[in-house]
Amino acid sequence: MSDRIKIKEILASDKVDYTATVKGWVRTFRNDQFIALSDGSCLKTFQVVVDRENTAPEVLKRITTGAAIAAKGTIVASQGKGQSYEMQAEHVEVLGVADPEKYPLQPKKHSLEFLREIAHLRFRTNTFGAIFRLRHSIAFAIHQFFNEKGFVYLHTPIITGSDAEGAGEMFQVTTLDLENIPKQEDGNVDFKKDFFSKQTNLTVSGQLEAELGALALSDVYTFGPTFRAENSNTSRHLAEFWMIEPEMAFADLDDDMDLAEDLLKYVIKYCLEKHQDDLEFLENRLLNEEKQKPQNERSPMSLREKLQFCLDQPFERLTYSEAIKILLNSKPNKKKKFQFVIEDWGADLQSEHERYLVEKHFKKPVILTDYPKEIKAFYMKLNDDGKTVRAMDILFPGIGEIVGGSQREERLDVLLSRMEDFDIPAHEMEWFLDTRRFGTCEHAGFGLGFERLVLFITGMANIRDVIPFPRYPGAAEF
Ligand code: ATP
Ligand code: MN
Repeated sequence: MSDRIKIKEILASDKVDYTATVKGWVRTFRNDQFIALSDGSCLKTFQVVVDRENTAPEVLKRITTGAAIAAKGTIVASQGKGQSYEMQAEHVEVLGVADPEKYPLQPKKHSLEFLREIAHLRFRTNTFGAIFRLRHSIAFAIHQFFNEKGFVYLHTPIITGSDAEGAGEMFQVTTLDLENIPKQEDGNVDFKKDFFSKQTNLTVSGQLEAELGALALSDVYTFGPTFRAENSNTSRHLAEFWMIEPEMAFADLDDDMDLAEDLLKYVIKYCLEKHQDDLEFLENRLLNEEKQKPQNERSPMSLREKLQFCLDQPFERLTYSEAIKILLNSKPNKKKKFQFVIEDWGADLQSEHERYLVEKHFKKPVILTDYPKEIKAFYMKLNDDGKTVRAMDILFPGIGEIVGGSQREERLDVLLSRMEDFDIPAHEMEWFLDTRRFGTCEHAGFGLGFERLVLFITGMANIRDVIPFPRYPGAAEF
């Protein structure tokens, strides 16, 4: 049926009294007459009124929750409550049945944990429909943002032979026979016999390669999957996640922070404009969930208020050293309420500290800069104090770190000595060092965790619920 029209289009147009075909999945079927149909194009379902007299009882019986149907009829203004248009169907065809005895998604509230177990079907719920429509738009808005600014989308390798990125544990990639691993004389694995004739891993970041691109194309960004074999079973970590990594030549840390703040605001604004329905639904979901919590644990703002609030003011920018002072003087630190009590300057900040700064102290997104060099990566530009580096982390309410970035060390001699400090063998990084040998210049970039942004915008609590098929320790289903 080529005159198929999506529900979103029907509801968006003010046309009535025309013939059309709708296709989708039955949410509910009442009184052998009223189908609530979803095709995923929008949150709303569409009412199809079945012509009971002229529809065979065998067909009526097969119209059950979850079944795929096609309905042809006239789109009319609806007399019923709750919808503006409906279809007076002349013909309903059941395309694919869903045995009500076996179909797991009955029209009732299912827990997110249960839905995670049936992630192959959870797209069909309102919650996950909203999440994945938003996820799409967030990705789209990110590409649009960079395109408007003249950035080149660069595809950095997923299988990498560079193991010096130092951003956590890596997954190994090999075709060696694990039952019979070839060894060298010294007993080490003979990677010469492996597929790439060397040891390879799944990438943890495309940054180093993006730097190579930026030092020729000026402004580039990556947007691809990244992998970390870290055993962090948290609601904010995945073993496979997507990252956006812009890199700008002739840019310093201020330019970097401006870019990140602009990007986040652009994407949030885009979602507020295009996804009122989905956000309203997720907002109400959250309100209902919070009703079970004591008053003081409920968030002071609704989801859309929180998103709007982020747009309305500049993010708070301060140095790590200033943040440490605030934390040292904070109640939870003095009363030893933090799991990790801050003792001195130099401490790595945990998510509890980041969230204190954002949620309790400043009550808005915060950008921390100039971290101690020991707790940040080797490629970050050393400040004149010799102790701190030009790093920046953006901290968001409910999330903690959402962006990690820096101005890069463009001075060859300083970079080499920093690599020595970190025991990174320079001879494996000649390709990277060449950028500092030939036409080096100030440059800066950052990594934005895509799922952390989706988490923030959807108001969901667990990162496993904002990616279609989450990978985390012990779980690689589907
Ligand atoms: P965290 O301290 O939260 O583990 P990180 O310091 O390891 O983060 P970076 O290496 O700077 O993070 O990575 C850049 C961004 O990627 C982070 O700001 C975050 O948004 C995201 N990110 C990092 N690790 C994960 C993960 N395991 N799952 C999902 N997103 C992640
Ligand atoms: Mn990490």
